[in-house]
Amino acid sequence: MLLSVENLHVRYGRIEALHGVSLSVDQGEIVTLIGSNGAGKSTTLHSIMRLPPPEGPTVISGDIRFNGKSLLSTPPHLVVSSLHMALVPEGRHIFGNLTVMENLSLATYARKDDKAASRDLDRVFDLFPRLAERRKQRSESLSGGEQQMLAVGRALMSGCEVLLLDEPSMGLAPLLMYDMFRALKKLNQDGMTILLIEQNARLALDFAHRGYVLDTGEIVAGGSSSELRSDSSVREAYLGGV
Ligand code: ATP
Repeated sequence: MLLSVENLHVRYGRIEALHGVSLSVDQGEIVTLIGSNGAGKSTTLHSIMRLPPPEGPTVISGDIRFNGKSLLSTPPHLVVSSLHMALVPEGRHIFGNLTVMENLSLATYARKDDKAASRDLDRVFDLFPRLAERRKQRSESLSGGEQQMLAVGRALMSGCEVLLLDEPSMGLAPLLMYDMFRALKKLNQDGMTILLIEQNARLALDFAHRGYVLDTGEIVAGGSSSELRSDSSVREAYLGGV
């Protein structure tokens, strides 16, 4: 497995948020983590990205392995620049007072290969032509959908091979949501490994190869997307019972 989370327990202060989460993502897969509000989905991604407290959780026990090697002592910048993982955070967190191009360029600061960065810029503009048209526009004046494209584009500019996405459909009108997922599918077809958090379980299971269900800090189900779609408890709790 490329990425594996093994019996992970984490806490914020004294409160334990994950109680023994295990999941894995293989190279080239799209895996989704679904679950209701507060289940611990973002906490799982933040643990993988080694986000430090106070925003990030503290690992109590368990392990996170990348290509078999524990990354618990890896600082966040190396998770991005050496392991080539990138997070598209919930709420986008783009720099509103910078232009589209400046946001994209910032993400390349740790890269040494200018040619590869320039190829990634072509790829971002190819995937999201809207960003190319608006490259000189201040990011705060972009629409919500365009800001989400920019958040994904910025992650790609880090040269990532594994993309962790925290609710990319949040606040998007249905058409834009489908556009975003089409773009993500294309990225995967070109080799990108994807771990996706979604509250929209139906959308997530249509998109992913496999999935896990997280409930109050524990994995309660896992399997292929079609297995999860036909699981009666998953249907009842997350797919509106149909
Ligand atoms: P949502 O879909 O609402 O974003 P989630 O499944 O991503 O939810 P998390 O954000 O991971 O859930 O939260 C899991 C638990 O950890 C919740 O009880 C939350 O209140 C708590 N929590 C999350 N971040 C912090 C933090 N920085 N400090 C303290 N507690 C936190």
